[in-house]
Amino acid sequence: MQQDITIIGAGAAGLFCAGLLGQQGFDVSVIDNGKKLGRKILMSGGGRCNFTNMTVEASNYVSSNPHFCKSALSRFTQWDFLALVNQYQIAYHERDHGQLFCDNSAQDIVNLLQSECQKGNVKFQLQTELQQINQKDNGFELITSRGTFNSHRVIIATGGLSMPALGMTSIGYKTAEQFNLPVVPVRAGLVPLTLHKPLLDILSPLSGTAIMTQVSTVSGVTFKENLLFTHRGLSGPVILQISNYWQSGEAISINLLPNTQLEQFFADQRESSAGQSLKNILSKLLPKRLVECLIQLEHIPDIPLKQLNIPQQKAVIETLTNWQITPNGTEGYRTAEVTLGGIDTDVLSSKTMEVKKIPGLYFIGEVMDVSGWLGGYNFQWAWSSAWACADAIIQS
Ligand code: FAD
Repeated sequence: MQQDITIIGAGAAGLFCAGLLGQQGFDVSVIDNGKKLGRKILMSGGGRCNFTNMTVEASNYVSSNPHFCKSALSRFTQWDFLALVNQYQIAYHERDHGQLFCDNSAQDIVNLLQSECQKGNVKFQLQTELQQINQKDNGFELITSRGTFNSHRVIIATGGLSMPALGMTSIGYKTAEQFNLPVVPVRAGLVPLTLHKPLLDILSPLSGTAIMTQVSTVSGVTFKENLLFTHRGLSGPVILQISNYWQSGEAISINLLPNTQLEQFFADQRESSAGQSLKNILSKLLPKRLVECLIQLEHIPDIPLKQLNIPQQKAVIETLTNWQITPNGTEGYRTAEVTLGGIDTDVLSSKTMEVKKIPGLYFIGEVMDVSGWLGGYNFQWAWSSAWACADAIIQS
C-alpha cells in the first residue's frame, strides 16, 4: 500500500505536523512504539506542560549551527501556538521567565493535538516500532515490528534519548547514519550534575536545600536561578540550564550570593557584630548548614569576625561569589529533559526540514541538533519545526 505521508513518532512534533498535513487533505499515518499519544507531553512541566515561552529567541537554543532554528521559529512563533491554545480554551498561566503552563493538566495539550489530528483524519499505528527505512524508487520502505509499509514521504519525529523508560530509541540517529548523514554526538541535556566523594559526602546534609545562585561555565555562559543540593550532587533550574553548556571535566563557578554587596555587608557587620563568629555572620545570608559545609571544606575559617583580616575577608568573598566545583558527570538520560546533539542541521533545509540530498525524508523536533533551554523552548521547537515541514509539503 502506498501511503502519502508517514510520520514516525507520536510526540509533540509528530502529532502537530500530522494534524496540519491531514487537515490539508494529505493521507497521513503516524507510527509510534508506545500505547499512548504524547507520552512525554503528559510528563512535562510536572504534569502541567510548559508548552511555550513569552520570549523565544535563537539564543535560547543550543546547536552547532545557531542560525538554523531562526527561520522556523520566526514563521511559527509562540503567539501562533498560543492562538491555538486559546482557540481550544485551554486555561494557562505565566510563571517566572515568561514560561507558559497549563492551569489544569498537560492532557489539555495532548487533547488539542489529538483533535487537530482527528480533524485531519490522521491514522495511528501504535505499539509499532520502526526498525529500518529503505529508500525506494518512489518513496520509502518502512520495516516495523508489525510489518513493512511503503510511504511516499517520511517524517522522522522520534525525539531524543532522554527518559528511556518512555520508549525512546536511537532509530532517528541510526537512520541518519544509514543514509550517510552526519549526527552531532548526543549527550544528556537539562540534567542534574553529579559530584564525586568526598565532596558529595560533605555536602550531603544539604540535600533538599535550594538557594538563589548565579552559575557560570568556563566559557562564560551564566544563569541566575535556584540551585538545589541533592543526594547525588546539584540540580534545580540553574544547574539544568548550565548542563546544556557544561563540558565534562570543567569546573563551574557558583556565586552563592549574587544579590548581595559583600564588601558593604562585611563593613556593616564589623561595626555592629564584630564579636560574633564568622559562621553566625554568614548564616544571616545563607543556610547555616551550607556555611558549616564551607567551613568543613576549609573554604571559610571558623573564627570570630574581628579576627578575620582583610586578605582573609577577600578570600571568603571569593569563595562565596566564585565557588569552583568540578562535577564528575551528569545523571544521564534517565533524568535528562532533553538530548543535546542529533541530526546535523547542515544536511537539512532550515525552511522545510527536508534532507537536502534525499527528497521526501524530513527530520523534525528534538531528534535534530537543536535543543532548547528549560522554559518551554523545546516544545516551541517541536511546534515550529513541525509547522515548517508541514508548510513546505503543503506548498509543494
Ligand atoms: P518526543 O515527544 O520525544 O516524541 C518522540 C516519539 O517517538 C515518542 O512517542 C517515542 O516513543 C517515539 N519513537 C521513538 N523511537 C521510535 C521507533 N523506533 N518507532 C516508533 N516510535 C518511536 N519541554 C518543554 O518545552 N517544556 C516542558 O515542560 C518540558 N518538560 C519535560 C519534562 C520531562 C520529564 C522530559 C523528559 C522532557 C521535557 N521537555 C519539556 C522536553 C520535551 O518533552 C521534548 O523536547 C519534546 O517532547 C520533543 O518532542 P518530539 O516530538 O521531538 O519527541
